[in-house]
Amino acid sequence: MTINPKTLSIRAAHDALRKKEFTAVELTQAVLLQAQAENPMINAYAEFFDDALQGARHADELLRTAKDMPLTGIPLGIKDNMLIKGKLSTSGSKILAGHLGVYDATVITKLKEAGAVFLGRTNMDEFAMGSSSETCAYGPVKNPVDPTRVPGGSSGGSAAAVAMGGALGSLGSDTGGSIRQPAALTGIVGLKPTYGAVSRYGLMAMASSLDQIGPFAKTVEDAEMIFAAIQGFDPMDSTSVPADHSLRTPRSGKEKLTIGVPESFIAMDGIDAPVRENFRATLEALRLDGHTIKSVELPSLPFALSVYYVLMPAEVSANLARFDGIRYGLSVDGEKLIDVYTKTRGEGFGKEVRRRILLGTYVLSAGYYDAYYNKAVAVRRIITNELDRAFEDVDVIATPTSPTPAFKLGEKTANPLQMYLADIFTVPANIAGIPGISVPSGMVLRDGVMLPVGIQFMGAKFNEHALFSAGRSVEKVRAI
Ligand code: GLN
Repeated sequence: MTINPKTLSIRAAHDALRKKEFTAVELTQAVLLQAQAENPMINAYAEFFDDALQGARHADELLRTAKDMPLTGIPLGIKDNMLIKGKLSTSGSKILAGHLGVYDATVITKLKEAGAVFLGRTNMDEFAMGSSSETCAYGPVKNPVDPTRVPGGSSGGSAAAVAMGGALGSLGSDTGGSIRQPAALTGIVGLKPTYGAVSRYGLMAMASSLDQIGPFAKTVEDAEMIFAAIQGFDPMDSTSVPADHSLRTPRSGKEKLTIGVPESFIAMDGIDAPVRENFRATLEALRLDGHTIKSVELPSLPFALSVYYVLMPAEVSANLARFDGIRYGLSVDGEKLIDVYTKTRGEGFGKEVRRRILLGTYVLSAGYYDAYYNKAVAVRRIITNELDRAFEDVDVIATPTSPTPAFKLGEKTANPLQMYLADIFTVPANIAGIPGISVPSGMVLRDGVMLPVGIQFMGAKFNEHALFSAGRSVEKVRAI
């Protein structure tokens, strides 16, 4: 059987490995060849691991002895902010140049146990701050659909790796949209799980109350397979939640859902007309397929982005205090200890990271804490309650994933506020701790090029099942 890494799904690869149509070594070689051919142009990977084939040989051994699991032998890309023992892990930042993981993140331990193969670490916006993957210390990532455009961010490398056929799936992290937005812009599936569903142990923290690790894949079923492998309670992460996802036996895609649509939120300015049209057409197709579409009132949703840009920098400023030139990575000499700190941080951090540390320090300062931080915490509660209540009436809430398709490289770098608006639809799920998925919903024409767009579904906490079901329904109506 010939292997086409651009179209091969994880499910099909798993079946073929089991039937011995090809080996894990052959699969890894084919995907690696494609990744290495595309990478000089796309820059999805910061590094290819030299032991990928060793991992594949181990997977073949598991397959031979029938000790395989769904992801055994599946080649994956891993975002550069998750620790793998003995491998470089730099969060796309100069300040972590040369930093080696001293232990495996829990997601890595789980994937190793499953016999997955790690091809390399993928590029990202520095410390996961961005929506375009242009602030990466290793240069910008390009969108495989159109290399003059960004792949989204911050997990742009993980998204591009899958979209260019350079991995069958990958892991990203999502603090305000960093899995779902790049998934939409590159035409693949991306899931941000419920806060607490996947362990954050070994993930470099950006904003700890918002961060979650999740999968990228070509299909909803593939994303579900990766999610099933990485989720679960972990005593090493105090925010991890023991929950029964009933994941091992995914229900069929036949059930009909009630889909809530926050009409006034979607009617807001700044959303591209073709994106809105695609969203409407997708909902109409779902309605014709027997699902119920229902308008929902979520008046506080438009405030989620403002809340995010207070809480996230506050947490960033605390989390990034540890990069002081003493403990990790880069260290720039100075006369006094304070000079070592300031020089290392001044040289090691990029502009966007410094901007957010400054913002965060400001909103946490004694004079402004009540005016900004405390107020944002209170509004977060209102948004969360509003969303929790909405799921008493609907199974999922649908929005476009991103207000625009992929934009040009450099188009938004001069204007951070424009960049921040890319997250308008994705941020609420992080604020409320609920799961969100982006599924390809078609293409829109932009400057003579067809560009992918995605539909987002959010669900009640730990109801990833409803998202997969909605996602499979979109795949079904799109195929008709
Ligand atoms: N784009 C958002 C930001 O810049 C989200 C980033 C993320 O989810 N890591 O903060």
